[in-house]
Amino acid sequence: MLRTFVSDTHDAAGRDLTERAHRGVRVVFGWGASERAAAELERLGAARVLVVTTAGRAEDVAGLRRALAERCVGTFTEAASHVPQSVVDRAVDAAERARADWVLAWGGGAAVGVAKAVALARPVRVAAVPTTYAGSERTDIWGVSGAEGKRTGRDPRVRPTLVVYDPALTLTLPRTLSLTSLLNALAHSVEALWSTAATPRALEAARDSLAPLWRALHGLSAPTAPEQEARDDALFAAALAGEALHGATMALHHKLAHVLGGLGTPHALTHSVLLPYTMATNGSVAPAAMAALREAWQVDDPPAALWRWMHASGLPTSLRGLPLAQGDLAWAARRATEQRYPNPRPLTEADYGALLTAAWRGDCPSLTHPPLGAPRSRP
Ligand code: NAD
Repeated sequence: MLRTFVSDTHDAAGRDLTERAHRGVRVVFGWGASERAAAELERLGAARVLVVTTAGRAEDVAGLRRALAERCVGTFTEAASHVPQSVVDRAVDAAERARADWVLAWGGGAAVGVAKAVALARPVRVAAVPTTYAGSERTDIWGVSGAEGKRTGRDPRVRPTLVVYDPALTLTLPRTLSLTSLLNALAHSVEALWSTAATPRALEAARDSLAPLWRALHGLSAPTAPEQEARDDALFAAALAGEALHGATMALHHKLAHVLGGLGTPHALTHSVLLPYTMATNGSVAPAAMAALREAWQVDDPPAALWRWMHASGLPTSLRGLPLAQGDLAWAARRATEQRYPNPRPLTEADYGALLTAAWRGDCPSLTHPPLGAPRSRP
């Protein structure tokens, strides 16, 4: 059954959310829900809305612009992946000139990222209509790329207070991007489950996301049922995974993905290739996470099951395929060691090297044969 809900009061399962930590964020979910985005903004008192999107989605916002009428004070279509500072500067300028009081991001993590960066510089509220499974729309995390690399941080001002999920908008996502973007969402849930600091709500959202995520991955890779059902599961699970990301510190997986991203590897693909390897590496020190995955997926060895499904679906399963040169692995291992972060097991430069080498070769990782042996000590 397809989902329809408004969750500043109740979630999809009918549970009362009024007392939960994410009070203050209005989430609207449903097929065709994006047609209600203008009315939802009006309901929240938005008077001057700047619409932010990527060039590829520029035509998709025409309906929203019409519905907003004079409340739409501009459209910024230059959003780009990794949120370059030069793009942010132009977007802030557009918001300032238009005297925007809200910025609505329509698109994936790139559009949401630019809207968030505007909110760091101007007194605007942020709304989002997500069209991928990246999950940025649920978090207070921002990131901007400049000459000195990517700066990231957390700030409550950047968190969208209105999110309108419309699975119909994801029907145009190409197959590979759909799957790798969903695996990016899975990485948020898995890391929240083994996080050293996660809120109860983040843990609950992470656990709730696992079953619909697994169904969606299978439904989108080899359709046996109407695509609508898989898209519905996928966006719902991604929304939960985004909540998990918001309420938890990320660990080994995100840090490695960040290091490799610095070498120019594609964002969603990097996450998807790394995930079975980071799961197998942390598996022995994350029994609760592995138990949740086993129960939701009905498999014995979650990293091996994930890797085998990726392989069968024709997705890249080695870093070599990103592509990434073997000669970059030593640099990446050193960088990962330099960046301190909380992980359920400590790793040395040699450990990172072994993990990255296994992921580069594309050996099937498993809990019984992890890329590294059992941890020598616990933190
Ligand atoms: P993206 O926004 O760059 O989108 C990828 C491509 O898909 C773009 O070319 C876009 O135009 C296209 N696209 C988007 N929706 C589409 C649709 N429905 N149909 C067809 N094409 C579509 O990438 P992304 O994976 O959504 O986001 C990645 C970025 O988000 C990264 O920069 C990452 O760092 C950031 N991110 C941030 C957070 C956070 O909490 N701050 C969380 C996750 C990701």
